[in-house]
Amino acid sequence: MQTYTAPLRDMRFVLHELHQSPPLPGTEEFTPELLDTVLEEAGKFCTEVLLPINASGDEEGCHYENGIVRTPKGFKEAYKAFSEAGWGALNADPKYGGQGLPETVAKLVEEMICASNISFGLYPGLSHGAYVALKSHGSEELKDFYLPKLVSGEWSGTMCLTEPHCGTDLGLLRTKAVPQGDGSYKLTGSKIFISAGEHDMSENIIHLVLARLPDAPAGVKGISLFLVPKFLPDENGRPGAGNGVSCAAIEHKMGIKASATCQMNFDDATGWLVGAPHKGMQAMFVMMNSERLSVGTQGLGIGEAAYQGAVAYARDRLQGRSLAGAKYPDKPADPIIVHPDIRRNLMTIRAYNEGCRALGIWVAGIMDVAERSENPKEKAEAEEFIAVLTPVVKALFTDLGFESANLAVQTYGGHGYIRDHGMEQLVRDSRIAMIYEGTNGIQALDLVGRKIPANMGRGLRRFFHPVAAFIEENQNDPAIGKLVQGFARAFGALQLATGFVAEKALKDAEEAGAAATDYLRLFGLVALGFMWMRTAKIAARKAMLPGPDHEFYKAKLATARFFAERILPQAGALLFTIKSGKASLMALEDDAF
Ligand SMILES: Cc1cc2nc3c(=O)[nH]c(=O)nc-3n(C[C@H](O)[C@H](O)[C@H](O)COP(=O)(O)OP(=O)(O)OC[C@H]3O[C@@H](n4cnc5c(N)ncnc54)[C@H](O)[C@@H]3O)c2cc1C
Repeated sequence: MQTYTAPLRDMRFVLHELHQSPPLPGTEEFTPELLDTVLEEAGKFCTEVLLPINASGDEEGCHYENGIVRTPKGFKEAYKAFSEAGWGALNADPKYGGQGLPETVAKLVEEMICASNISFGLYPGLSHGAYVALKSHGSEELKDFYLPKLVSGEWSGTMCLTEPHCGTDLGLLRTKAVPQGDGSYKLTGSKIFISAGEHDMSENIIHLVLARLPDAPAGVKGISLFLVPKFLPDENGRPGAGNGVSCAAIEHKMGIKASATCQMNFDDATGWLVGAPHKGMQAMFVMMNSERLSVGTQGLGIGEAAYQGAVAYARDRLQGRSLAGAKYPDKPADPIIVHPDIRRNLMTIRAYNEGCRALGIWVAGIMDVAERSENPKEKAEAEEFIAVLTPVVKALFTDLGFESANLAVQTYGGHGYIRDHGMEQLVRDSRIAMIYEGTNGIQALDLVGRKIPANMGRGLRRFFHPVAAFIEENQNDPAIGKLVQGFARAFGALQLATGFVAEKALKDAEEAGAAATDYLRLFGLVALGFMWMRTAKIAARKAMLPGPDHEFYKAKLATARFFAERILPQAGALLFTIKSGKASLMALEDDAF
């Protein structure tokens, strides 16, 4: 059976020691003690309520019958408990019934949810995405009516973009919206792959649907966003008459089987415009950006579950003897944790997880600044930083989450491949995160093609400047100088790669496309490296002190060193690959494949 305990000590480290959030309006009442209590309670909820229905939900899957979708046993009750405890309202605005907690804490809680039951997490996750899009682009009337219901979890949300012939290329979208002259619209079209499109956990479902108005220009410039409820609200605000929305089928898929992935039909369904006509992509991007960071968190959650499973098994499983001589001579064999190759698995997952947690919470802290700061310049700078880091977090964390799940299976040997221990489920569940919310290939193109050139590289400099300043300040530090010098080489590789890509892309966009995925990985490794260097700086000082945390900081230093010596050197190879350009990729004619 899978086990999971929230890594509270590390969460407290990133929240209070690594990143100290600046005092922001609306956060004054949240003392560190209060935030720690929230994390503890969330950890308990995830272990006690969500984890026990993770494997059974995977085994049973969702059920479809005559347009009705039932979630697996226990999901409905868990959703009720989740909503009643306010877990879906953590970082929502108190004006709409939220608790107004910082994004940093909400992201840590999200990680716990994903680690214990990613399928479950998708339902409130989509509602939060809908909340974010509606809050930033909806009319006051729509916001006042719908947001409190999304925040409380009484009603849930979806995002309906994908159609059978259009996934990445939303310019091909065909769903139509016809104005009715009374402020409402009638929507007609088919959407596929809609997460939480239909289910039995909330009393109403609010779909955010991309569609075209009759006078819409072709392509992505002609897309508008609409709010379409499953049931039209009656005069008391309760779910009333059925709208023209139906679920035609659910998908049978590789993983996240307890998450209903629905084919949705809209037949003259009544909806209301969100944001301006033809500006739907702008409104949807708000939701997609929030979701992209959340999908990154799914990768991290799975990585943490993989780590905990792999460590427990590596301590327990007896096979062979240590290459340095028996370490447990009283046992018939040593536990596999003594073997360097098993250590390689465990240290890799650990270094990824702790690095990603640190990076994710750095970005979440900047999201808090963007949301709450009263200084327009500070807000704008925060937004530029988030724009650059969003594709990195989404793609890197999900790639590493999948890699971690695979390493965990490898640690279990054949016992990882069979269902009993839950490791193969992690591999299957983590795979989708590399695909939805824009595939990881598309994230890389977004980074290279849009985010880096934007404003003459200003967003990029919001990341490069603190990194360069840290190196300058710490490269001769007696405790961590050597580590920092290695990190500086990786950063140098990223700077060279950036110059190379920028110059080549000006002349030939295919060159940027050929470099994109390797460039994103290089960027991601440097970003994790930066987190590890800052961690090492704190740990080097605190590991000298006696006390209960001595071992924690010693382990931090050892993991920072592992990352610097055994993972970061990949930066050099990535630079080499990037510089080879597009030639070998594009050499064959299409019909030679
Ligand atoms: C389980 C699940 C849940 C989902 N949930 C939702 C949801 O809630 N709402 C929703 O709207 N959608 C949802 N999706 C859809 C998902 O977002 C899309 O599958 C995804 O964006 C990719 O689109 P596609 O499948 O059509 O692939 P395609 O767009 O056909 O892409 C195929 C391949 O080509 C690559 N590619 C495409 N265009 C380019 C390009 N210009 N340059 C380089 N490479 C390119 C892609 O990276 C990919 O590798 C879900 C999908 C699944 C499987």
